[in-house]
This record gives sequence, C-alpha cells and structure tokens, in this order.
Amino acid sequence: MDCLFCKIAMNEIPADILYEDDNLLAFRDIHPQAPVHILIIPKKHISRLNDLEAEDAHLMGLLTLAAKNLAIKNGIDQSGYRILMNCNDHAGQTVFHLHMHLLGGKPLPHLG
Ligand code: 5GP
Ligand code: ZN
Repeated sequence: MDCLFCKIAMNEIPADILYEDDNLLAFRDIHPQAPVHILIIPKKHISRLNDLEAEDAHLMGLLTLAAKNLAIKNGIDQSGYRILMNCNDHAGQTVFHLHMHLLGGKPLPHLG
C-alpha cells in the first residue's frame, strides 16, 4: 500500500521515533507547529476517523494513553497540551493514515 505512515511503521522511511509497541508508533512531526509536536499512529492502516469501527475502540484508548505518557515524558503535562485528529478536507487532513497530533511546549491558539 502506498501510504507514508505505513512505510514509517514498517521502517521503510526514517522518522524520529519516540515510542513503539505492538499496536502504536509515535514520532516527531517533520514540520512542527509547536516545540513539542508528536504524531501517534496505529500500526494498523485506518485512513481517517470516518473509517473507525467498533473494534477499534480499544486502539483509540491506547492512542490517547500514549499521548498522555508522551506528554509526561516531554515535560508538557503540567504546562498543558492539546491532542487533535484531522478528518478530511475542512480539517486539513493531508496524510490518510489515522494519526493523533500531540502539541505543546508553548501557549496554543484558543479553540472554541
Ligand atoms: P494532517 O494534516 O494530515 O493532520 O497531519 C499530517 C502531518 O504529518 C503534518 O503535520 C505533517 O507535517 C506531517 N508529515 C508529513 N509528512 C511527514 C513525514 O514524512 N515525516 C513526518 N515525521 N511527518 C510528516
Ligand atoms: Zn497507512
């Protein structure tokens, strides 16, 4: 499959990997939008949030827990951080392999 993040997960393309287990991979975003900008992906290819199935509920929980642990490891848990996932055009999704952004290390633009 011609998927950038699958290739990163299979070590075919290099990345600055911060965490890996059987289900997940986390690596630094190549164009960071904040001092800490980490992408957390499932190793399983899921194109976008629209393609999530009930069987992926546990995986989504694992992604969220990995984000929390990476926030602690990167020293932004107390100052604060944001996790977000973009889906399709209006959100600006550019890579169609599900990924969670973890952003922090500076005050982030207010949302909502
Ligand atoms: P999206 O806009 O789809 O939510 O986020 C995709 C993210 O992937 C962007 O923040 C972009 O900078 C990042 N990205 C794109 N290509 C690469 C790459 O080859 N390596 C890494 N580490 N990040 C990438
Ligand atoms: Zn993929």
